[in-house]
Amino acid sequence: MEDELINTMDNKKFREHAHQLVDWMADYFEEVENYPVKPDIQPGDILKQLPDEAPAQGESFEDMFDDFKNSIMPGMTHWESPYFMGYFPANKSYPSVLAEMLTATLGAQCMSWLTSPAATELEEQVMEWLRKAIGLPELFTGVIQSTASTSTLCALLMAREQITEFEVNETGFPKDEMFKVYCSSETHSSIEKDVKIAGFGRQHIRKIPVDHEYAMDPKALEEAIREDLKKGFKPAAVVATIGTTGSTAIDPLKEIGQICSKYEIFLHVDAAYAGTALLLPELRWMNEGIEHADSFVFNPHKWMFTNFDCSAFYVQDEALLVRTFEIMPEYLKTPEDERVKNYRDWGIPLGRRFRALKLWFVMRSFGIEGLQEKIRQHLQFAQHLKQKMEQHDHFEVMAPVPLNTICFRFHPGYIDDQKKLNELNEKLLEQIQKSGKLFLTHTKLDGKYTIRIVLGNTNLKKHHVDKAWKLIQKMGHDLIP
Ligand SMILES: *Cc1c(COP(=O)(O)O)cnc(C)c1O
Repeated sequence: MEDELINTMDNKKFREHAHQLVDWMADYFEEVENYPVKPDIQPGDILKQLPDEAPAQGESFEDMFDDFKNSIMPGMTHWESPYFMGYFPANKSYPSVLAEMLTATLGAQCMSWLTSPAATELEEQVMEWLRKAIGLPELFTGVIQSTASTSTLCALLMAREQITEFEVNETGFPKDEMFKVYCSSETHSSIEKDVKIAGFGRQHIRKIPVDHEYAMDPKALEEAIREDLKKGFKPAAVVATIGTTGSTAIDPLKEIGQICSKYEIFLHVDAAYAGTALLLPELRWMNEGIEHADSFVFNPHKWMFTNFDCSAFYVQDEALLVRTFEIMPEYLKTPEDERVKNYRDWGIPLGRRFRALKLWFVMRSFGIEGLQEKIRQHLQFAQHLKQKMEQHDHFEVMAPVPLNTICFRFHPGYIDDQKKLNELNEKLLEQIQKSGKLFLTHTKLDGKYTIRIVLGNTNLKKHHVDKAWKLIQKMGHDLIP
């Protein structure tokens, strides 16, 4: 009786609609490369189609799904398209999507062992699988966080509690001490955000200069540390990046690690994107010196075919991590506390999604060799395209290409004015975005406007890369008189 009144979807209807959606999903995956990568719309175009108020009476699934197709889909940017080559990818794959369906269905909260024993133990084991797969030493223990921003915040909070001997947790920052956090001038913006949140104050970030390959200069790091020590500041943490967001530059971890060990400074390694490439033994040199690091983060939700969100956070000192976050109100105590991992104490939120499942499905479905093969293919595509750009009179490669991101600009030989080149490339990117055929993004390297192309989508094939390159050349040449 009540059910009829409130008009909820019943199990029979759910089953029917779910089947319908799966068909839609499979069609989408098949057709997404034919969609405009970025919609041709203006701000507010979607908003004005949406009613001001939520409906008083329940509506049918058919109506909702129609509106999804007609009002929402035309406003989506298609990260799943192989022609999405901007930022870094947010990859997904069939096994990952299927796991997300199960995670949503179970709706479990994975905050403690008791609230979901299998989720806790699966997380423990897949983080071990992943650790071994990327060649991270046994010194490290992993936990899944939502994002690299969150993982790095956890690292900075650990550093803060370590250097103040847990004083900030108890009584707040000491009045007469100032702490410093070091990173390179090419570091991701999340570090600055995390420094603000952790309470160090963004004025206390020291951005260390980079070398001609955009990697941190370790000599300049040591000088900065000595200078700060002399002035009475306390160096609290260094963040090194493996694969910067601008150009995938690789900070020299070994030298940085030795400096951190020498001055006893907490070292966090941000490999948010490039961590996936550590699946390849031939690229493990990037992580040389990792034993000096206190923590390490990489996002399987970027390049490793696992749906957002899934950030793998590894620490050496599990006790420090737990002591930084642990809380034990009466209502959360369980009989097993002494014997199990309660992941609520390994990070910021209490409630946690069952994210280990999709990682488990991805690793089992691809196999380590399957993952390696895909990554190697992406790297080959990038080397191939880089060569073509280098051989082309009107294109210039702007940074080394250690992975699958190429920084380039259009540079017809007769233009040498930097400002003109900046304007030309800004215009070129604008034209590319507008076409809907390809999605790229930009950065600035040494003040030069630089276009980035990232060849890392799950379904990327060589013909997509060839088509993208043709388009870039044509649009470039259309811009010159
Ligand atoms: C993408 C990225 C981040 C931020 O990742 P989120 O998971 O979105 O917070 C941090 N650092 C680097 C190097 C990145 O590429």
